[in-house]
Amino acid sequence: MNAAHNDAGVAIRAFDPAFEYEAHLPLLIIGGGACGLVAALSAKAAGVELAVLERDAFPRGSTFMSSGFVPASNTRFQRDRGVDDSPAIQAEDIQHKNDAEADPQMVSVLTQQSGRVVEWLADVHAVPFELVEGFLYPGHRRMRMHATPRRTGEELMGSLLNACEREGVYILTETRVIELHVDHAQCVRGITLQRPDGSRESIGCDALILACNGFGANPKLIEQYIPSMRDALYFGHESNTGDAVQWGEALGASLRDMHAFQGHGSLAWPHQTLISWALMMQGGVQINVEGQRFSNEHGGYSEQAAKVIAQPQQRAFNIFDGRIHTMAMDFEDYRNAHEAGAVKTFESLEAMAQGLNLPLAALTATFAQMQALGETGEVDVYGRGFSAELALVAPYHAIQVTGALFHTQGGLEVDTEARVLRTDGSAFPNLLAAGGAARGVSGSNDKGYLSGNGLLSAVVLGAISGETAAQYLANQR
Ligand SMILES: Cc1cc2nc3c(=O)[nH]c(=O)nc-3n(C[C@H](O)[C@H](O)[C@H](O)COP(=O)(O)OP(=O)(O)OC[C@H]3O[C@@H](n4cnc5c(N)ncnc54)[C@H](O)[C@@H]3O)c2cc1C
Repeated sequence: MNAAHNDAGVAIRAFDPAFEYEAHLPLLIIGGGACGLVAALSAKAAGVELAVLERDAFPRGSTFMSSGFVPASNTRFQRDRGVDDSPAIQAEDIQHKNDAEADPQMVSVLTQQSGRVVEWLADVHAVPFELVEGFLYPGHRRMRMHATPRRTGEELMGSLLNACEREGVYILTETRVIELHVDHAQCVRGITLQRPDGSRESIGCDALILACNGFGANPKLIEQYIPSMRDALYFGHESNTGDAVQWGEALGASLRDMHAFQGHGSLAWPHQTLISWALMMQGGVQINVEGQRFSNEHGGYSEQAAKVIAQPQQRAFNIFDGRIHTMAMDFEDYRNAHEAGAVKTFESLEAMAQGLNLPLAALTATFAQMQALGETGEVDVYGRGFSAELALVAPYHAIQVTGALFHTQGGLEVDTEARVLRTDGSAFPNLLAAGGAARGVSGSNDKGYLSGNGLLSAVVLGAISGETAAQYLANQR
């Protein structure tokens, strides 16, 4: 069997009935991030024999790098804290942020299933979710972020990996899938995997889930679909090379919203640590090297990446005070940034101007304007209002940040059961996709990303994909 591999080394191979596979499993899942592991847990619960195929020696993915915040509505965690939320309100928030560009049926299913999936992971699989309280992300009208105590993706991945171990999920590491074997009816019948030493093996399967995320780490695809971020720092996992979309494209799958992505306007520089946008939502501001604000910091952190990159030297300073610093110390990433010396403290505006090499007159004018807005209740030219209670007071803190590309949001078009669709709208027989491999719910650009859309798709659609695979396999018997 021969297959033509593209630049990224992946290919579709014509299935050969005479070919002898080293092994055969009913279900294979490519990718061991949140999506792949949740899909595995849900299929395993239905009694499916499966394996997760993960290219890294230790499963991490972008999930590991994330804050691990999973949005969900109508959960017992919310009810315990008196938060009155519903899938309908959550769906409205998602669609408001993306100008109603996402598939409304997908948004409806993800929001309706989000509470069930988060509670199932907590109650059945001991993922120690708790409600994140104290601030709302831009566009969220209710507190609905669920995270583990340290608020890190590392901890979320650790919990999911522990659950997989308890459930006997087989995770094959150092296993990069390079080929899908597809028959004349476009049924996936197996895969070729490649080990780090270059050796290859083939495993047959009856169904396949693509959980191998998007194409943020593939410069050629970024140039093709998101040229505005071609020179931006990429801060997702290096394995997001777009294998799923390349296989899908070769098979004639529909690719949707390929220009969409999540950026972030608050990556500590040069420390390269994510600084939570909670700082801005609590009253912090971003100031450029000219001592001026340049945006509504409450618009959304994704689109803020491009705004920060457009500033002189492609950087800005997050400016905040002791009240916000105390709140931020709840975040492990922030504590790490603090320990690494990224957070500078100044007793006065004069000291800050000198310490950060900012023009004092401009900095003073910026603060005077914020104070005036707080007193009058008016909004500024960017559309942001300031409250007198949250006014920044000395001593001030500052972190130098830049904007970055975190992950892509476009991908394989799937139906609400995670089945990959062809360009004519029909579904491939046994090919599923979820998480960053699939089209997200963030519309067509960088402005439509509502905080949490990434893990919403990875976790909730991941669970659905496992259920769909289990149902498909049961129907085949
Ligand atoms: C810094 C940062 C912070 C973020 N914070 C949040 C947040 O708080 N909330 C939120 O909702 N979203 C957040 N996101 C986005 C979120 O991390 C992603 O949307 C989500 O992790 C995607 O999950 P996934 O399982 O689809 O992909 P991943 O977690 O990236 O997993 C994909 C896996 O597939 C493997 N793989 C790829 N190709 C192959 C192959 N050919 N063969 C075998 N294995 C392969 C990879 O090695 C990887 O382990 C953040 C992203 C970043 C970068």
